[in-house]
Amino acid sequence: MSSIRSRIVVLFTLFFGIVLTGFASLIYVRLSEAERSTLDARLESEADKLATELGENAHDGTFPDSVSLSEILAGGIRGAHMQVVGMNRSTLLFDSMLSAAAGSLPSITPGTGALKRATVSSEKGEFRCLLLSSEAEDSLKFVVQLASPTDDLRSRQTDLLYLFAVAIPLALFLTALAASAIARKALQPISSIIRTADQISANNLGQRLELPQTRDEVRALAETFNRMVERIDAAFRSQQQFVADASHEMRTPLTVLRNELEFAIERLNDPAVKDGLQTSLAEADRLAHLAEDLLLLARIDASKLRLELMSIRLDEILLECIQHSNALATKKGIRFKVTVDDVVHVEGDRERLKSIFFNLLNNAIKYSPDHTTVTVSLTGNPTRNMATVSIKDEGEGISAESLPHIFKRFYRADASRSGRDGHGLGLAIVERLVQLHRGEISVVSQPGNGSTFTVEFPLARPA
Ligand code: ADP
Repeated sequence: MSSIRSRIVVLFTLFFGIVLTGFASLIYVRLSEAERSTLDARLESEADKLATELGENAHDGTFPDSVSLSEILAGGIRGAHMQVVGMNRSTLLFDSMLSAAAGSLPSITPGTGALKRATVSSEKGEFRCLLLSSEAEDSLKFVVQLASPTDDLRSRQTDLLYLFAVAIPLALFLTALAASAIARKALQPISSIIRTADQISANNLGQRLELPQTRDEVRALAETFNRMVERIDAAFRSQQQFVADASHEMRTPLTVLRNELEFAIERLNDPAVKDGLQTSLAEADRLAHLAEDLLLLARIDASKLRLELMSIRLDEILLECIQHSNALATKKGIRFKVTVDDVVHVEGDRERLKSIFFNLLNNAIKYSPDHTTVTVSLTGNPTRNMATVSIKDEGEGISAESLPHIFKRFYRADASRSGRDGHGLGLAIVERLVQLHRGEISVVSQPGNGSTFTVEFPLARPA
């Protein structure tokens, strides 16, 4: 894909190249014509002079010996050739080059006063020829043939071509440079729009493009873009508010329902009814849990979740979470293998860090078969300034198709839906909480080979 800038540079240079070549050709043709006209004018004036001189000195049908060619041409044209031809093509004054080229010269009748021009090529090179028909005082009719070499003219034309051959590419190179600089300057606001627009994501819809000072199309584009983000932001916020309100409203009736169910279960004797109510209680718990998670996500989305940050020992929190999860693990005969570095400080919110680890540990237990091992490790790496927690299980693993989606809201891999507790919000919450702690979460997993979740947090100085 070529950028607008490179397209502008190519088109501009191409256009300028065509215009420049057109102008150069015009200059070349006009200068060549002007040079030839000058030469023709000189030949004509010389031929005139010669014809007059010869005419005045002719006697009895011949020219006097004293009228030598060199004398007449003294001060004339460099390298010129002259020949005088009389009636019936008789040569009155002979020139070898001109007589050899006689076939290429136009025919002209002596004594008519006519004038003709021609360019002929001979062994000695190219010549511009002028033929002037004249008549002497004693009725001697003759034609003066005068020829001048065109090598001077040709060499000036060649010089001009060399000049163009150097100047045109140089001019085009400079044009390309200038076009590139101008295009960069003109497109700079668009580049900055792209950079800022790239940073705008669902998590920071509050960000807006900076408007350029000038009132032009780019500013109009930025304004339109800002208005669009404004509308998306408003729609997003109202959706978040709706989810937050709905989950909030669900909390109270769910608590009442829960309490009533517990109360009824305690007092009932019929085991079948009791079982039914136990199931209802479990579902009410599930619903309450879902409402809590939705509310938490809505608060994170609306940037309303305030972390109570302090320097915390991550090793202590992790061990505490492992201890709490132990009961669940023991039920499935799962054992923990723990390697934790001593005294690893991070800046964090104690409760939120705990929910991160609870979620990951619970998943490891939930998605592992009985009697397997969950390996937990914590390392503090001062050189990288990072604390790394990894939780590895020997469970069923996650397929390559599911892997990119597991942090999405309500996503559950097919196998997880059947009979397993959960609603697919756990990892979405974990990811957002990790991000709020300026950390990163990643997962490596292969079906049948278990999964390893790795969380990294920046280290903090000990309090
Ligand atoms: P759920 O409530 O379904 O556990 P999560 O958001 O915690 O929701 O996880 C999303 C999905 O990621 C799960 O449904 C499951 O398919 C997959 N998953 C998460 N952790 C593991 C794990 N340790 N092993 C295998 N699959 C996992």
